[in-house]
Amino acid sequence: MEEDKRLKLITEQIIRLANADFETPGELSEEGDDLDSIVVGLNLLGEELEAYTQELKAKEEKIKNTLIQLNEAQHLSQIGSWEWIVSTNTVTWTDELYRIYGRDKETFQSTFENFNHCIHPDEKEYVNSVIQSAYQNKTAFKFSHRIIRPDGKEAFLDCKGNVYLDEDGTLLRMTGTAQDVTELKKAEEKIVKLASIVESSNDAIISKTIDSYITSWNKQAQALFGYTEQEVLGKHISLLFPPDQVSEENEIIAKVVGEGKPLINYESIRRKKDGTLVNIAATISPIKDPSGKVIAISKIARDITEKKQAEEKLKKYTIALEQKNKESEQFAYITSHDLQEPLRTITNYIGLFHDDYKGQLDERADIYIKFITNASRRMQTLISDLLEYTRIENDKEATQIDCTALVNEIMMDLERTINENNATIVFGTLPVITGYFSRIKSLFQNLIVNAIKFKRSGVAPIITITAKDTETDWLFEIKDNGIGIEKAYHEKIFMMFQRLHAREEYNGTGIGLAHCKKIVELRGGNIWVESQPGIGSSFFFTLPKNLNL
Ligand code: ADP
Repeated sequence: MEEDKRLKLITEQIIRLANADFETPGELSEEGDDLDSIVVGLNLLGEELEAYTQELKAKEEKIKNTLIQLNEAQHLSQIGSWEWIVSTNTVTWTDELYRIYGRDKETFQSTFENFNHCIHPDEKEYVNSVIQSAYQNKTAFKFSHRIIRPDGKEAFLDCKGNVYLDEDGTLLRMTGTAQDVTELKKAEEKIVKLASIVESSNDAIISKTIDSYITSWNKQAQALFGYTEQEVLGKHISLLFPPDQVSEENEIIAKVVGEGKPLINYESIRRKKDGTLVNIAATISPIKDPSGKVIAISKIARDITEKKQAEEKLKKYTIALEQKNKESEQFAYITSHDLQEPLRTITNYIGLFHDDYKGQLDERADIYIKFITNASRRMQTLISDLLEYTRIENDKEATQIDCTALVNEIMMDLERTINENNATIVFGTLPVITGYFSRIKSLFQNLIVNAIKFKRSGVAPIITITAKDTETDWLFEIKDNGIGIEKAYHEKIFMMFQRLHAREEYNGTGIGLAHCKKIVELRGGNIWVESQPGIGSSFFFTLPKNLNL
């Protein structure tokens, strides 16, 4: 107001000077002539004007700075603003509003139509209705909506607006702000999604403070432990511990908070609200702030009571089975051992009978005696094979075995069989392994004897023995060019008493491969066969280098 007055005074002085009559010579006063006083007046006026201009400039500078600050503040807070002057129907946008809308200030006209064009098609109607009602009712307004930027991306805006009226209640102008809350909205959506995952999870999901007070509890936690969320929030986690297990929490905290590491598949027992115990498997993890500091703990747990019971049952069953196996092997050992004695007596007496009464009885009696002799011999072999099988367990010390020397020794033992069958055994340097000598010898011998025995008629057996280093194991192969085995029997032949041929064709008891399997498995390895009928078979077995005898 004061400035206006001063401006008025200066203007009046200018007009007066402008209207002054400088043509007609006047009377000169004692102090000087009129021209002098005009010059003095003009000088004064000039000074006044200069001061006023400086003041205006300072104010303009201040306004400019304020505007820059406002712009920066809007940019930082991602809030843009607009103003609509009703009388001139002009809309102005701040720089930040242009930025939020992704529009260029120079080319985009901030009219209502253009603004309307930016709104997401699904929300145009809603936004228009909010603005219309604010205009008609002359009331402040607030709404959220989406816009589409020129690059096609969506942005979420939170908007607020105000109306300004004159004394008569006529609308003068409307102003508003729009804040870009896209990131916030996305974060919110993520939180909602995560929360619904937590709620619908089949696992109990719990969070607690670093000193073990429960801060969240999902539906499944309620189902598992019986407590409602209200009952446990703020309570110490030890509420769920059986009394004798409370100290466990210190170990958990030491690992998860102290070391900042998760505990994965941690199995333990917890107590439900009704006092019953439940076996759980849990993953307990630290929740860290951006600096890496542990600020809370999360726990995902599930009920493994049934699994534990099944494991327990299986364990008992396995122990019982092992016991039974031992008993039956013991039984087989005792019976075969005890059977040997009477059988030896029978064989001896049949021999005596045959020698003493040969030719004194008729021909049929001689044939019967022959049958009895053969049968008792077979029975002797069967019993000695059985004894051999059951005796595996009762071996002595494990030693270093040079397999090359071992095969040489077996070849000497089998010299007669090898020669009779015209067999060739090919092998290079075989490894030195650790094992029980008699078992390993029996394993090689059984496989070599079979490779000779199951030869093709008219084809001299060629047996190749090799060993491969597979880093963890020795992989042996005993390959022959014999009759081969149908695929259907590749597993069956390793079972006790399983034979594929009549005794008249190939003699045997069907114990040899079962014996080999037992030796290899006790040594921690595997045995299998690959074969093509009419071409030959390869028996493979592995012996782990690192053994647990
Ligand atoms: P046995 O030799 O006393 O019959 P095994 O347990 O050693 O008993 O072998 C079981 C069966 O597997 C044999 O009867 C035979 O049919 C088959 N078999 C074993 N080794 C070979 C082989 N090298 N070639 C062909 N068949 C074989």
